[in-house]
This record gives sequence, C-alpha cells and structure tokens, in this order.
Amino acid sequence: MSKNHFDYIICGGGASGLLLAYRMCNDPYFNDQSILLIEKDAKNTNDRTWCFWELGDGDLEMMVHKTWNQAYFNADGFEMDFSLAPFQYKMIRSLDFYQFMQKTLAEFSQLTQIQERVSSIGENDVTTEVQTYHGGLIFSSIYDPKSLYQQKKYPVLLQHFVGQIIETQKPCFDPGKIEFMNFNVPQKGNTRFMYVLPLTENKALLEYTLFSENLLERKEYVDSIKAFLEKLPTGGYKILEEEEGKIPMTCYRFDLKNSPRLLHIGTAGGWTKPSTGYTFQRINEKTKALVDFIKKGEPLSRFGKRDRFWFYDMLFIDVLAKDNAQGSDLFKRMFQKNSPDLIFKFLDERSSLIQELQIMQSFNVRQFVSALWKRIF
Ligand SMILES: Cc1cc2nc3c(=O)[nH]c(=O)nc-3n(C[C@H](O)[C@H](O)[C@H](O)COP(=O)(O)OP(=O)(O)OC[C@H]3O[C@@H](n4cnc5c(N)ncnc54)[C@H](O)[C@@H]3O)c2cc1C
Repeated sequence: MSKNHFDYIICGGGASGLLLAYRMCNDPYFNDQSILLIEKDAKNTNDRTWCFWELGDGDLEMMVHKTWNQAYFNADGFEMDFSLAPFQYKMIRSLDFYQFMQKTLAEFSQLTQIQERVSSIGENDVTTEVQTYHGGLIFSSIYDPKSLYQQKKYPVLLQHFVGQIIETQKPCFDPGKIEFMNFNVPQKGNTRFMYVLPLTENKALLEYTLFSENLLERKEYVDSIKAFLEKLPTGGYKILEEEEGKIPMTCYRFDLKNSPRLLHIGTAGGWTKPSTGYTFQRINEKTKALVDFIKKGEPLSRFGKRDRFWFYDMLFIDVLAKDNAQGSDLFKRMFQKNSPDLIFKFLDERSSLIQELQIMQSFNVRQFVSALWKRIF
C-alpha cells in the first residue's frame, strides 16, 4: 500500500474523530488495516467542558473529572431539587480527553496521526494544504454550516453560551448539586438560562446559555454571569477559565451529504440532539455503533436512520423557533408533570411510546398540532 493510501481516513481529531479512532484501534478487526487521522490543531488546551448524564460507570470513566447525583431546576416560579438517580451527571475536561487519547493512540501502529489542515474532501481522497491522501472509507467531523444556512426547510437555533469557571472568596455552591436549568434570568423574548456546575463550595463553572437564533455580543453573556453572581454571597470572586460555544439545534438532514464511502460524524453529521444541544454522549454511543456497522461492509450512507425522536425534535424546534420565548414554559411543564428519570430517558431516546405520550400531554397540545399542521401542509 502506498504511503498516501489508507483504508480509513478520519478528518478532524476532536471528540468524534478521536473516539472513532480509539474504538477502531481497540477492535481487533482493524489490526491489519491502516487508519489516518488528520487534525489541524495541536489539541493542547482545555477548549471545552463536556457534561452528560449516564447510567452507572461508562467506558470513559477514567477521564471523568467530577460527578453529581443531585440537581436543581427553576422556571417561572416552579423550583425543584431532585435526585438524578438512576443517572449520574458527569463532567469531562477536554484537555484530559485529548491527553488520554494522545497517549493511548500513540501505541497503535495501525494509526497514523498528522497535523494538517484539510482543504477538500472527495469520495476517495482528502486533500490538505500539504498533499492528497487516498482512502477506502472517509469520515469527516469538519463542520461547515454553509449548507445549513442555505436551506429554509428546517429552522436553525443555536445553543450558545459563555461559560466561566469562578472561584469565590466565600463558600456559596453545593458541590453535590448542579443547577441543570435555571430560567430565573431575564428572558428578553428568548429561551435563556443559567447552568451551574459546582466543583467545590468555592468553585463552579457557570454558563449563561440561550437556545435562540442569533448570537449576543460577548459582553451580554459576561454581564449576565456577573449579575447572577451578585445575588450570591460570594465575598468577591475571580474568573479562572472561560469557554464559549455555539452548537446547532436543528433537524436539518446533515446525513444527506453522506455517500457510500463518506460519512459525516459528530456535529458535522447531525449527531447533536436538536432539542437540547447535547452531543458528547451521542458521539460516545454512535462511534461504538459505527465501528460495528463498518465491519458489516455496508455503504456508509445507510448508517443511522431517522426515527420518531427526530420527528419530536423537529416539532419542538419548530415551536421554539416560532416563539423563542416559550422555552422556559416548555421545560417547566416537562419537569412539573414528569419524573426526572423519565425526562432523561426520553432525552436519551430510550423511552417507550406510552411514556412519550405521557410527556407530550405535559405540553400545550395546540402549539404542537399547529407545528405539525404546518409541516404537513
Ligand atoms: C465550549 C463547548 C462546550 C460543549 N459542552 C458540551 C457538553 O457539555 N455536553 C455535550 O453533550 N456537548 C457539548 N458540546 C457540544 C459537542 O459535544 C462538542 O462540540 C464536541 O466537541 C463535538 O465533537 P465533534 O467531533 O463533532 O467536533 P470537534 O470536537 O469540534 O472536532 C472537530 C475537529 O475538527 C478539526 N478541524 C476543523 N476544521 C479542520 C480542517 N479544515 N482540517 C483539519 N481539522 C479540522 C477541529 O480542530 C476539531 O478538532 C460543547 C461544545 C462546545 C464548543
């Protein structure tokens, strides 16, 4: 096999690219095959913090930085402290993830990792600023939102936020309990909430988050975190770290860009849950399923099917895009009328039809019927 030919090429070595490479390398099926991973960056900074809920110990447990068993929800005068059982909420710092992957993947001779910028991806080859590589199957996690914004069929909201790790003078956080969604911030016609992940009594990651169409000026996110902290007995605080994100929330058919030998993965493949923006645990699960799928030798375009959860998400995003101020009411109804474990199961797409009907009854049915009507006609 020539130096530039690989059985598999993975473009982008972030969460999905690295996890796919990790799973392939750990599967004996790929022992005699060649895998190329192309990433443009050094991946040596803590550029994001991933959180997700999970049942019991997962196979990424060794990287988990912190877990929580309790949570808090607040919307429109409805407050609730709840146990996350049977789930746990977990945090992975991306730098720990990148370092673990760099160390582990270096041991696999079937994997070649290069730091180059991909400039184009074809059916059989990937061209970087340096040269062209030929691949049997190609996976790309390089997210290009151009086609997403060129279409009108599926509204595009963003989960956008600025997060700050804050250290306070006085203890003012409960390190055992997250604030999952605290809508007790001015909504200003949008869906806005504070998300608080306490690390100790004095230290927490606070993310001022919106589910809306347009980004804000950076100052507005930062000022909102400041205003939130002013209500706490911090005794003064300093900002230790900062991160920001804009995650697409849409039912746009990213999968239509796939072909028998090219599959888009991660955010670029539409693996983000449209109604919440959660992606990391889906990447974790889907990369496992993808490795099994590759071994069957079927065309990559057949990987992953739309199901009823895609349809629920579509109606949810339609409703929220039409009236962006509805978010706090929608989540409030969901938490008021259903047990948290059912909600997390539903968001994990593991609920039964009966359970989904129960959740749907929590909402104002007219809003959803109207969204459905528009979709049909
Ligand atoms: C700050 C932040 C916090 C987040 N927190 C959570 C969370 O708590 N929970 C959750 O579920 N989801 C979260 N997400 C969403 C999602 O999980 C992450 O964005 C995740 O990293 C997506 O994985 P990915 O592989 O699709 O993209 P990425 O991890 O972004 O990987 C794509 C890779 O492609 C590389 N790349 C891009 N262009 C090129 C090119 N031309 N050539 C070569 N390489 C290229 C990039 O450098 C990058 O490494 C968060 C996102 C952000 C931005």
